[in-house]
Amino acid sequence: MKTLSKDYTFYAFSGDLPARLHVSQNELFVLESCDCFSDQLNSDQDTLDSLDWDKINPATGPVAIAGVKPGDIVRIDIQKIEFTGRSVMTTIPGSGVISGITEPSTRVMDNSDGVLTVVTDKGVLSLPIEPMIGVIGLAPAEGSVPTGTPGKHGGNMDCKLIGEGAKLYLEAAVDGGLFGCGDVHALMGDGEVLVCGAETPARITLSASILNEPKLRTPFIETDSVYASVASAATTEDAYKMAVDNMFDFLTSIAGLSEGDAGRLMSLVGNLKFCQVVDPEVTVRFEFPKEILTELGFKGFGA
Ligand code: CA
Ligand code: ZN
Repeated sequence: MKTLSKDYTFYAFSGDLPARLHVSQNELFVLESCDCFSDQLNSDQDTLDSLDWDKINPATGPVAIAGVKPGDIVRIDIQKIEFTGRSVMTTIPGSGVISGITEPSTRVMDNSDGVLTVVTDKGVLSLPIEPMIGVIGLAPAEGSVPTGTPGKHGGNMDCKLIGEGAKLYLEAAVDGGLFGCGDVHALMGDGEVLVCGAETPARITLSASILNEPKLRTPFIETDSVYASVASAATTEDAYKMAVDNMFDFLTSIAGLSEGDAGRLMSLVGNLKFCQVVDPEVTVRFEFPKEILTELGFKGFGA
């Protein structure tokens, strides 16, 4: 299987970067990724003072996908996420949205055997892992976007739905798409309020193909149980309006629901959630249950 090691990282999505890997559509490939601190923190004594801040949020890539042209909707299948090292979390006063954090600290955590071991002052917790990819995207049409910033191109969306088995849909803006990802979390809650999840180096197995559904507004996610529109903006209000509008658009123009039915069902069984509120733009998503659409005759993309 074609594999790109974590020697091939970049810090801004850009159409100007040379592709480091070329894959065919539907070909499985592997990207090895650093954690969001470029694997610099390896014990509880490693502090942020020792950190090279130029090496935050590396993504591995870029990968050129054969046949992809600007305007194409690219479907990225996340097949597998395997950890290749310990997880780490930091508290950083002034970062994140927990105003009571005053002391910097580092915690290295074991993530083997399907559980994240969290040592607290009151006891040890074994939390089931939920691997997800924080940074995942394509090159923007013009200029570059730092890997720490989310947007229309994807990027640092920190959306916990982007895990094993999920499909992420993004619109390509350049030839080949120039895909990259990194910033895997062994576990993270919605909002990422501290500013990090359980940051973990990983080996990510993926495939990519073109989806013939030009009307789909992206980023968009499909899991076993939900469809989700994802939107990032400077304010939560702008972000949630965009996510809601994009889901409504999907339900009416692609899934075939009437305006009133789509609105009623979005309000009855849809869920608006924060992905993260700590990056340069906030990211929200609107989830809609797949089984409702199945019951109403929508068989999925391309069916
Ligand atoms: Ca992140
Ligand atoms: Zn992260």
